[in-house]
Amino acid sequence: MQSISPETIFRGNDAWEKALPQIATLTARPLILGRSIKTNDIRNKIFRDLKLQGHIVNSANLQFDCCYEDISKVKNIILNNKNDSVIAAGGGKVLDSGKYIAECLNIPCITVPLSASTCAGWTALSNIYTKKGQFIKDIALRSCPKLLIYDHQFIQTAPPRTLASGIADALAKWYESSITSSTVDDGLVQQAIQISRVLRDQLLIEGEKAFKGQFDNNSSWRNTIEACGLTAGLVGGIGGEKCRTAAAHAIHNAITQIITPNKFLHGEIVGVGLLLQLRLEEIKNNNKLADQSIKQLLRLMKELHLPTTISELGINVFENQYLDKIADFTCRDKSEIHFLPFKISKEDIIEVIANFEQQKIKI
Ligand SMILES: [Zn+2]
Repeated sequence: MQSISPETIFRGNDAWEKALPQIATLTARPLILGRSIKTNDIRNKIFRDLKLQGHIVNSANLQFDCCYEDISKVKNIILNNKNDSVIAAGGGKVLDSGKYIAECLNIPCITVPLSASTCAGWTALSNIYTKKGQFIKDIALRSCPKLLIYDHQFIQTAPPRTLASGIADALAKWYESSITSSTVDDGLVQQAIQISRVLRDQLLIEGEKAFKGQFDNNSSWRNTIEACGLTAGLVGGIGGEKCRTAAAHAIHNAITQIITPNKFLHGEIVGVGLLLQLRLEEIKNNNKLADQSIKQLLRLMKELHLPTTISELGINVFENQYLDKIADFTCRDKSEIHFLPFKISKEDIIEVIANFEQQKIKI
């Protein structure tokens, strides 16, 4: 079974208003789920609009992350209130929690992404973390959300940093799927990989203009937020589980094991993992194009103010055996790193990261 996309999608400047009649057909007692105080105003608007429509509305906020503690707390709130749907309005962690909770309780999930930082509003997947933000595992869900509301006015209020993060995460689709899945003899997977290549090209062409033009809502910005929040999700939907992630996400998952005072966004860490994946391809798979890709990506990432090394994520890998810990987690049995078509050892990871952190890469 494969769930390719949400059942219904509303997109554009007034997507929320347009979606209201559809919401009325799906739910009478929704729970609005969020997390950040910064997006409270939008959730308050959602709350008011639903009340005006005659719904009985409750709301809850995650305290930590998409973690089992928050998930069971919110499940209890829903059961006590007899809510018949979850409206997850926030970033990737809120969307992932909402989808997972709704599936556990067999009620519909409505996703309202409040930034373009991930494609979690679309996908049938939830990533589970610890309370402190350490990656545990991803869970494949039975279906994509019932309704996805991609309201551009909501997303326009998000900090540009979230868009940069979304661009890095969406770029990884091509570099990861093309190396892990290009030998898969399945037309849909091949087409998903081709879409991820077009997606990458569009981000390379328009990403910088979008990042700098968020507040005038130009066409580059609109195309880019939809590329990150919608098209990236479509690639996952069409490609299914055969269209895999690889080293970029494996390294992301490993880096999240180290707790730092400043939290970084998913795509910010994936971007660093992507550069390291390309270096692995160059060294271990003799890929002569990988170095060019690194330089091309670095140029864009600098313009988007994205971190490009692990030290820029606030971690000195040469302290506290961090390098060892990152390499261990990256190479653990269940890691996506093993989807690469060549063998990678813990020593390879240590070597590549150590060289990468030591050298000042010239663009
Ligand atoms: Zn990702």
